Amino acid sequence: MSAEEASPKEGGKPAAQQTALEERLIEMIKLNGPISIADYIADALGHPHDGYYNSANAIGADGDFTTAPEISQIFGELIGLWLVDAWQAMGAPQELNLIELGPGRGVLMADILRAAQVRPEFAKAADIWLLETSGRLRHEQQKRLRQDGRRIHWADKFSDIPAAPALIVANEFFDCLPIRQFVRVKNGWRERLIGLTPSEDALAFTLAATPAAPDLPLPPANDAQEGDIFEFSDAQREFMADISRMLTTTDGRALIIDYGHIGAGLGDTLQAVRRHAFWPPLSEPGRADVTAHVDFAALARIAIENGAAVHGPITQGVFLERLGLAARVHALSSGKTAEEAATIHSGAHRIAAPSQMGEIFKAICVSAPNLPCPDGFDL
Ligand code: SAH
Repeated sequence: MSAEEASPKEGGKPAAQQTALEERLIEMIKLNGPISIADYIADALGHPHDGYYNSANAIGADGDFTTAPEISQIFGELIGLWLVDAWQAMGAPQELNLIELGPGRGVLMADILRAAQVRPEFAKAADIWLLETSGRLRHEQQKRLRQDGRRIHWADKFSDIPAAPALIVANEFFDCLPIRQFVRVKNGWRERLIGLTPSEDALAFTLAATPAAPDLPLPPANDAQEGDIFEFSDAQREFMADISRMLTTTDGRALIIDYGHIGAGLGDTLQAVRRHAFWPPLSEPGRADVTAHVDFAALARIAIENGAAVHGPITQGVFLERLGLAARVHALSSGKTAEEAATIHSGAHRIAAPSQMGEIFKAICVSAPNLPCPDGFDL
């Protein structure tokens, strides 16, 4: 997640305070040996009781990290209009699944639905599907989104969502899916794992005792130098394949926005954020948001392999400008006090300026191959 006001990653190690989850992981590693980074992230974020997304106040200005829809309502409004346009490009089907992956507090979907009122038929057609594993966040989504006449459903797994023409939105969802890391050693790749410090009272990075299996999607060892780290995410790959297969069989589009890189990069992007500052990723699991940068080139490859068309990635700043950010800021500010207008301007600046979230965040559209180029992605 973004930590715009964050201190550097290495910045001062906080006084460690062992969490229940950390104690259990330490006991498990003592018994069975090191675990993968993917298993660690899955527990740290998703554990039904002690996982981060079930903790109080993770998202929002008062929480640990904030996201574009939490910063400015314009983000969701522009996406709402983009979705209406996409629905029209699909021939305005009367049966539509409007799917959001990882809806957080439901703010993005609320803004989408408000903006989409420009075409009441869109809202009438839409069955809203929210893919959410956290009970606490589901509750917040219900409070914010339930309304007479709206058909809202929750799903634990993507495969629980029935097949129908679909429009899918995912903002800051892929970055929290578990990744694995591999380190280039003398003779090839070895998985980076999580074991224990010599005193066995804290988690520490270590290397697998044996080489990485040859069938893993790793770059040729000759393309990397000793010490380089390569990341990939089985969960991201599976989601991308599922989404692409759904869209090619039922029709529709997915808009995925996240922070990440376009070229397949080498490097350690695992990070944790707590109270808007970076946090050591292995410290106090369950109390910080642990994420990694999204490899957009890898996602695009998987979508294409599964028959979908891919548009972008382009930067979030360019995408929002093309959708009419400036005009929306202007319209929203008119008739407001100087202070209110300044807040609207500063929110737009934070989500779109290259020095803020505009450059590091990217948007990609995965689409059924028969559809025209989506709004904002034409060159
Ligand atoms: N999209 C929101 C929140 C992003 S935080 C925003 O922009 O504000 C990530 C969200 O994904 C949370 O709602 C979290 O509970 C959910 N999530 C994480 N892993 C998930 C998984 N495997 N399946 C379903 N939801 C998941």
